[in-house]
Amino acid sequence: MSVQVIEEPLLEVRNLKKFFPITNSLGRAKGQVKAVNDVSFDLYPGETFGLVGESGCGKSTTGRTILRLTEPTAGEAIYKGQDLYKLKGRELLKVRRELQMVFQDPYSSLNPRKRIGHILEETLKIHNIGTKQERTDRVMDMLSRVGFQPEQYYRYPHEFSGGQRQRIGLARALMVNPNVIICDEPVSALDVSIQSQVLNLLEEIQEEFQLSYLFVSHDLSVVRHISDRIGVMYLGQMVEEAPTDELFNNPLHPYTQALLSAVPIPNPLVKRERIKLKGEVPSPLNLPSGCVFHTRCPYATKICEQETPVKKKAAANHAVACHFL
Ligand code: SF4
Repeated sequence: MSVQVIEEPLLEVRNLKKFFPITNSLGRAKGQVKAVNDVSFDLYPGETFGLVGESGCGKSTTGRTILRLTEPTAGEAIYKGQDLYKLKGRELLKVRRELQMVFQDPYSSLNPRKRIGHILEETLKIHNIGTKQERTDRVMDMLSRVGFQPEQYYRYPHEFSGGQRQRIGLARALMVNPNVIICDEPVSALDVSIQSQVLNLLEEIQEEFQLSYLFVSHDLSVVRHISDRIGVMYLGQMVEEAPTDELFNNPLHPYTQALLSAVPIPNPLVKRERIKLKGEVPSPLNLPSGCVFHTRCPYATKICEQETPVKKKAAANHAVACHFL
């Protein structure tokens, strides 16, 4: 785990919404998928904020929408006092340099016909940084920083393993000296032994480059290992947010409690009762009324069907969206 949470937020996400329209065969709108539905949180300098939840809960879409890889439906993403969604052209390009992304499958984002050195140099070219020689030198430095030999500059993406490609993805994000990196399931596709290497590298680099991470993952053990604070998402909404230890020792939201009860404890003498939720996750095309979790919540009452709970403080730095907390 990295640096303590201090000072003003570096990035403030406010009431973020991302809806995808669904059309019929005639192109007429027949509904919308509410992938991200009113999500707010802060990211502080030097911290790692983990976003967890089951697949399809909107955590990856949240990360991609912050970076405008997909445009938001509503909301704000305030970075150093500027709303990213109001920036255009050069202004946006300048700020985008400071916010980078590392993807789950770096292979799909690496041009298979280009050598790794050239792929990394391209990032500098896009942002008009340095002379040709300076760019080459910087790529060499960065490759060495993430554990490669100079001759690997000339290799193609297919010549690297999954873990090596993820290190290349990280090197590419670091080329432009970012402040924030959004890591979207960066170790999910890797073997467990390689996962820990990449996680260790992420932690080393965070300290060295003073980075803030938004770390998106469905894997609670990974998120626990790397995050200072965690936000739990369910059906496009953030239902609980707390510092990592607080969340794991004292989960308050019934969904978080169920999610954590499924995490194995590395001690055969300690047994934890698994909370099994009833039913399936509802479709984001047709969200339940009131609290989106009420169709599966063991504590749901009438008010849960009728009114949407607002995320509020339950303890210091611990916020939860439930009528009864
Ligand atoms: Fe469960 Fe109701 Fe709380 Fe939602 S508001 S988590 S349904 S008790």
